[in-house]
This record gives sequence, structure tokens and C-alpha cells, in this order.
Amino acid sequence: MDFSVEGNVIYLISAAAGLIIFAVIGGLIWLVRSGKLKRVQLKDQTYALSANLKDEKLKSGFIINAIEDGVVTINNDQAITSFNPAAETITGWPAAEARGIPFGTVLKFVDSHGQPFPDEENPIVAAMQTAKTVRDSDIALVGKNDKSVSISIVISPLNEPGRTRNSGVVAVFRDITREKAEERQRDEFISTASHEMRTPIAAIEGYLALALNEKVTTIDANARNYLEKAHSATKHLGLLFQDLLTSSKAEDGRLQSYPTVLEMGEMLQQVTDDGRFNAEKKGLGLDYIFGSAEDVKTIRPLYYVFADQNRIREVLQNLIDNAIKYTMEGKITVRLTGDENTIQVQVNDTGQGISADDIPHLFQKFYRVDNSMTRSIGGTGLGLFICRKIVELYNGRIWVSSDMGKGSTFFINLPRVSREKAIKLQQEQAAHMSVLDVR
Ligand code: ADP
Repeated sequence: MDFSVEGNVIYLISAAAGLIIFAVIGGLIWLVRSGKLKRVQLKDQTYALSANLKDEKLKSGFIINAIEDGVVTINNDQAITSFNPAAETITGWPAAEARGIPFGTVLKFVDSHGQPFPDEENPIVAAMQTAKTVRDSDIALVGKNDKSVSISIVISPLNEPGRTRNSGVVAVFRDITREKAEERQRDEFISTASHEMRTPIAAIEGYLALALNEKVTTIDANARNYLEKAHSATKHLGLLFQDLLTSSKAEDGRLQSYPTVLEMGEMLQQVTDDGRFNAEKKGLGLDYIFGSAEDVKTIRPLYYVFADQNRIREVLQNLIDNAIKYTMEGKITVRLTGDENTIQVQVNDTGQGISADDIPHLFQKFYRVDNSMTRSIGGTGLGLFICRKIVELYNGRIWVSSDMGKGSTFFINLPRVSREKAIKLQQEQAAHMSVLDVR
């Protein structure tokens, strides 16, 4: 072998290069394994992300400042953490003063009669306690200048990603003073108009009844047919004006109510007996059942409520009339059940049912489901609205559950009055009546 100097140098250089390559590859493998390289990449991504987040934050801050709705965030210590310019305009509080102080100092809510909300009814407190979204459109806010502004408000819990506990709430509200004033004007007009119209309509109805009375007039079959149609349309108009008047009274708290102790079992028995004729005329059954199917009680408990008899009768009649109206075959079942604190009335039918899209609107004024059936059945869309207003007047709740094609069940919950309380209230009422008698 020839070991020349040149050959040795070349050999040494290639050995060194091999070593360097080996060291670099080994180093890289070590870096990847030990996660150092990943960290370098992650660091880069984190920088990019935080830049993005900053961007997003800037963007959302910009949007919140631009919108016309007041947006206020409140932390779990009930302190205001952010306050957008629209909130400043609506409340009259500068953001710099509002931030950091208890929300109750800035967002002073009052009800439609100007009464402050007790803490347990405050919508912000409610949203915090229940961790659920709370909405209210019948509320006013007293601003810094003591001026009251009607608002519509939605308060939602703030769920930050990765946190188990809510970090407070966000309240979004808008000034609806103008809309409310317009609504009031409209209601006043409807109320006055329906009141004024009732008298002439009653007169027309009376004269038409006279014209149809064989003992009073002689008319041919054609004229009778026309007059009968006119009589039925006038009756419908009379009912519409009556409903309009009741609904506008219900809205501004002018609905007359003379509450007494009522036993719901007895009341339901009467109302179902009254409705049976109409149901049977349509070939429908109408049953009144006490308790649930599993109940095997032989002695029926007495379910007392404290409410105006005529108003409650109106609600029950309305639900039974609707069940008859919107059911083509099968039967209507009225059920009474309850527990210590609540009584529940259920009106179930085997009608065509109500779609999930319509259910949220059903108890609104003038809402009628738009389908071929309702188009052919007369109605005003005011009945369920009036029912809701009356039930709410007695601190109750009304709702519906429905299965398309199978039928619907309307539920009413009312606070139950204990037997002892019922007796006491009846005695008080009797004493009051005897005082009036003496006078
Ligand atoms: P009206 O019956 O005068 O139209 P209501 O306020 O009583 O007004 O009812 C509102 C709407 O709800 C009705 O138009 C009807 O579409 C629907 N509805 C009410 N009760 C029932 C029922 N039992 N089954 C199906 N639809 C119903």
C-alpha cells in the first residue's frame, strides 16, 4: 500500500466531514426527540396566534364600540368590567365612571309602573344565579339624569373556553322608548275604537235577530239566508271587539279582577259540561279526568286557587273551545292534577297539532297558525294571548306541547292555596261582605 502525504490528507478530511455529518444528524435526532425543535416551532405558532388574538380582540372591541346596542359586561363580583359608547348614551353614565363599580348603581331597573325590582327579580342577578340567558322587554332603566328609558334587554352568561365557571354576564340592551310610546298609542286607539264600536254592533245584531224572528217579520227563504249570514258575521265582529278590548285592558293592567277562593275540580266539571254540547255536535268526545292515569285515589283532594272566577272560566273555555275547533276527529281530555304548591290543568286533543316553529309565537297577540285548516276556521288570534295575560295575572304559567298529526296538550300551572288558607280567605271575604251589607 502506498501511504503518500496527499493520500493521508484526503483521508483525514473525509473522515472529519463524516464525523461532522454524523454529529449534525445525531444532534437533529436529539433535538426532535427531546422536543426542543417542536418548542421552537410552537413558539413561532404562539407568536402568530397571539398576534391573531390581538387582532381579533381589536376587531371585536371595534365592533362593540360601533353598535347601537348598549353592551355591558359584569364580573362575578357584580362589578362592571366594560361599558360601550351606546351604553353611555342610553344610561348617561361615562364609561370611565361606570367601569369597576357595582352594576346596580349604574343599571337601575324599574318595572313598567316605575317600581324598582327587588334583588331576586333583577334580570342580571337572575342570569348570574341561573347561568341562563334572561330576556325582558317590559323593563325600564333609570339613567344618571334620573330619566327613565324603556329598554329591551338580553343578559347571557359568559362562558370562556377552558373555564368551568362562568366569568360573569354580558348585558345587551336597546332603547325602545319610541316603540313603546307608539305601541301605547296603538293600544289606546284599539281600546277606544273597540269600546265605541260595541254599542252600534250590539244594535245591528239585535235588529238582525228581530228581522229573523218569525213572530215579528215575514221574509222569504232567500232573505232569511242572507240575514242569517249577516247575523253570524255581526256576532263574530262583536266577539272580535270584545277580545280586542279585553286584550288591551290586559296589557295595561286595567283588566278587572275580583279574586275569590275557587275549587278547580268543581270549576272544570262545570266548564267541561258546558263544552260537551259543542264537542258532540262535531262528533268529538269530551272527558274530564282527575289526576294522572296512575292515580288510584278514591277521595279527590280539593285544589283551591285564589283568582277571579270569570277570568279563569274564560281561560278554560278558550282552551276547550280551541281544542274543539282545531280537532276534526277523536276526543278532548281535560285533566286536573297537582302537588302541594301547584295545581295543573291539562287540555289534550287529538287534533292536527302545532308545529315547533309556531309554538314560540302562539301566545302572542294576533298570532294564528297559517294553514288550510285555520284559514277555514274563524278566529282572531287573541284568545291565547288573553289566556296568557290572565294566567300571569295570578302568577301562573301557560304552555303547550304538541305532536304534529297526533294532537296538542295545553298546560296551566297556578299556585295552589292550602285548605287552611282557603278557609281563612273565605272567612275574610264573608266578613267583608257582611260589612258591606250593614252599610
Ligand atoms: P284563534 O283561535 O282565535 O285564532 P287563539 O289565540 O285562541 O286564536 O289561537 C291562536 C292559534 O293557535 C290558532 O289560530 C290556531 O292556529 C292555534 N291553536 C290554538 N289551539 C290549538 C289547538 N288545540 N290545536 C291546534 N292549533 C291550535
